[in-house]
Amino acid sequence: MLELRQVHKAYATPQGPLSVLAGVDLTLAPGESLALMGESGSGKSTLLHLAAGLDLADAGEVRLGDHDLATLAEPARARLRREAVGLIFQQFHLVPSLTVLDNLRLQARLAGVEDPAWSKQLLQRLGLDGLERRYPEQLSGGQQQRLAIGRALAPRPALLLADEPTGNLDEATAGEVLALLLELVAQAGCALLMVTHSPQVAAPLDRCLVLTHGRLAPRDASRNHTAAGA
Ligand code: ADP
Ligand code: MG
Repeated sequence: MLELRQVHKAYATPQGPLSVLAGVDLTLAPGESLALMGESGSGKSTLLHLAAGLDLADAGEVRLGDHDLATLAEPARARLRREAVGLIFQQFHLVPSLTVLDNLRLQARLAGVEDPAWSKQLLQRLGLDGLERRYPEQLSGGQQQRLAIGRALAPRPALLLADEPTGNLDEATAGEVLALLLELVAQAGCALLMVTHSPQVAAPLDRCLVLTHGRLAPRDASRNHTAAGA
């Protein structure tokens, strides 16, 4: 589904190149869920951007389905992203001028999903039925993030990438939104790569890896590493 092989990424800074990823290897199988942890600034968002083809690696390979992202021109990469990848961020990323239902319809249509019943079904599964004619600003934070989850899933993607999706919500709402996210992902059968700070959030996922010093390590190994280094 998603494969990263010896991925390297550095950013240009006034102080010179800042190496962020230094040999990341990762394989995510169809339907598998993976939590990605790591300290602030360790490169989690960078890894997600590369997986989505929003940015390209300096070296190494990023494969999404049958495609090596570096070999695709940007229009093809954008199309693959629209059709095969759902993205959820800490900020809700909704279209403020569109109603709740049209936010879902637009994402589905952009991905070529023409089933007219699908957006309404999704609305129900999100627990947003009755709110379809509202605008995003008329929703609570939890409802807005549920809608953002719906937008990400509207294209029926094979892979969902979520970057601290509950980071902007209070604890109770975060719990509800996370439970909904996992339920919908299981129903959809899509793979999930989720960045989180919280071990509780990571717990229900199939695997958990930690990004440290530009590489991925199993969560327990990195704990031992920290303990040994302390
Ligand atoms: P995380 O999501 O784990 O907090 P990021 O991937 O956002 O980490 O960032 C990793 C490092 O790269 C940080 O030190 C950050 O400041 C730096 N960084 C991220 N994006 C850029 C950019 N576009 N230009 C320069 N530096 C960046
Ligand atoms: Mg980040």
